[in-house]
Order: sequence, then C-alpha cells, then structure tokens
Amino acid sequence: MRLILMGPPGAGKGTQAKFVADHFGVPAISTGDIFRANVSQGTPLGVEAKRYMDAGEYVPDEVTNLMVRNRIDEPDAAPGFLLDGYPRTLAQVEELDGMIGHTGHSLDAVVVITADKDELVQRLLARAQTEGRADDTEEVIRRRQEIYLSETEPLIAVYKERGLVHEIDGMGEVEEVTKRIFEALDAVSQS
Ligand code: ADP
Repeated sequence: MRLILMGPPGAGKGTQAKFVADHFGVPAISTGDIFRANVSQGTPLGVEAKRYMDAGEYVPDEVTNLMVRNRIDEPDAAPGFLLDGYPRTLAQVEELDGMIGHTGHSLDAVVVITADKDELVQRLLARAQTEGRADDTEEVIRRRQEIYLSETEPLIAVYKERGLVHEIDGMGEVEEVTKRIFEALDAVSQS
C-alpha cells in the first residue's frame, strides 16, 4: 500500500499514522518527525529546517523533496509506505508522482482527516502543555492553519480528481477514528 495521510494541524495525523502503518505493515514516514529528529541532533538539515518550523512556515520544497526521496529509497519502503505530512504543496505532489512512477507503482489512497476548527485549536494548545513543541504557541498555530488552508488544502481537490480521497471524520475517540480509517482502507486493499 502507498498511502498519504492529510489533514489540518491537530487533526491527529501523527497519532493515526502509526496505527495505519502497522495495520498494513508499511513504514510511517512523517516529515515533521524527521525534521524534529534533525533539529534535536543539530544536523545541517535540522538547522535549516528549524528557522521555518519555529515560524510555522513550510520548509522549502527542494529541501523537503530531497529528504523524502532519500527516505522512500530505503529498503523498508519498497513494499509501500504511509506518508504523514507530505506532500503539502503542489510542487511536492508532482515530485511524489515522479518518485512513485519511477518505481512502476501508483498511489493507492489519500486519507483526509477532518475536524472542526475550534477542536483543532484546543487539541494543539493541550499538546503544547504536555509535549512542549516549539511550534505549538497560539501565534504559530494560527500561522500553520493559514498556510495549511492556502498551500495544502487545494491538494485535496487534485487527489479527488484522481478518485483517491477518503474523507474521515476525525472527531471522537482515537480508536473510533482509527476504525473509520481501517474500514475505508480495507475496502481499497481488497479491490
Ligand atoms: P503539523 O502538526 O503542523 O501537521 P508536523 O509535525 O507535520 O506538524 O510538521 C511540523 C513542521 O515541519 C511544519 O510546520 C513545517 O515547518 C515542517 N514540515 C513538515 N512537513 C513538511 C512539508 N511536507 N513541506 C514543508 N514543510 C514541512
């Protein structure tokens, strides 16, 4: 399975990514996690990415694309993968098409997790208190929401045209949301 998990900041992508990836036996590839690991290790990539992340801006496409390309080329991703947080721009969509097309495969599904706006802000503020992520301040959260709406939400229409989108209600208990995603994707994997 080659899957994309999309949704606004706070929709629960990271939480669901692990369950979904385990269910299908593929690695979960989270660009946010890879950037954060690089930041904490102080690598040149981390130093570059941190400037953007702290402001709630997207890391430049060239940097992100190269990082994903290298990760997808690793052997564990040969049978498939689940992308969490990529693609987020139209340029990244094109780049990903190239990466997957090159291997003779295609995308199987794009899961879009939805949630209402107030709930999203509440969740992110709650996470700020427990996890202390540098980009979970109210101001940066607002910027991340804006940039999601302008840069990433338009991608949903692109994937809808390809018939790949499964919109999943992200409200309610974590397990309920997971169950909804499994139901949608099990139908895909059987077809
Ligand atoms: P969010 O909760 O906003 O979905 P993530 O953990 O997925 O957070 O990403 C954190 C930050 O990492 C983003 O705000 C952005 O700066 C950077 N980032 C992650 N994925 C991408 C991407 N595909 N393109 C550009 N920047 C990205």
